[in-house]
Amino acid sequence: MPSRDNPAAVLFDRDGTLIVNVPYNRDPGRVEPVPGALRALDRVRRAGVPVGVITNQSGVARGLIGAEELREVNARVDELLGPFAVWAVCPHGESDGCGCRKPAPGLVLRAAAALGVDARDCVVIGDIGRDVEAARAAGARGILVPTPQTLPCEVEAAEEVADDLAAAVDRVIGTAADGEARAAAGTARSGSPRGTAQNEPPAGAARSGSPGGTARKEPPGGAARSGSRARPDAGARS
Ligand SMILES: [Mg+2]
Ligand SMILES: [Zn+2]
Repeated sequence: MPSRDNPAAVLFDRDGTLIVNVPYNRDPGRVEPVPGALRALDRVRRAGVPVGVITNQSGVARGLIGAEELREVNARVDELLGPFAVWAVCPHGESDGCGCRKPAPGLVLRAAAALGVDARDCVVIGDIGRDVEAARAAGARGILVPTPQTLPCEVEAAEEVADDLAAAVDRVIGTAADGEARAAAGTARSGSPRGTAQNEPPAGAARSGSPGGTARKEPPGGAARSGSRARPDAGARS
């Protein structure tokens, strides 16, 4: 049973948050979880809090990803990191004027409605400004987990920033021990050493092919993602 302090649901962005960002990926074989993602998700699930995915996939509107290909990629994400209580996907393009493409609130509202909860009781965790803006627009709590693709202005603008998924989950899933960990870590945005979470067996990291103990280091896709910064494209960042 969820503690009364826990959120009604935690909604995660997909690309760059749960899986390494491969712009317009249509190949299930290229789905690679971010180190620590499974562990973070399982911790939320164990607390009795439903987890969902809210994802912009404008590659569909751009003709770069087929509807069936998107289903296959999402199925692979589900296989590696699921089960998810809800998926909310925006297939539209920037110019479609839909109400669901983040930073619009539609995906957050849709996911909350599907779960039968109030969006204002939900937490959104994502890697770029659009994610936390969508949260804010829906009345939800947003936490930014920056990657090399995250713009400095997005980090500055975010109300809450966490170093990684484990730290983000620390902020929302409460136990006495977690409270101590939070107190020890303070609210610093820097990568200061943290508590026992980093010393657990790296189940999530093992699944993503990383050696143990590297969960807090740069994801394997970091170089590729850094490379894509040379051509800033909000769509490519989903
Ligand atoms: Mg993202
Ligand atoms: Zn949309």
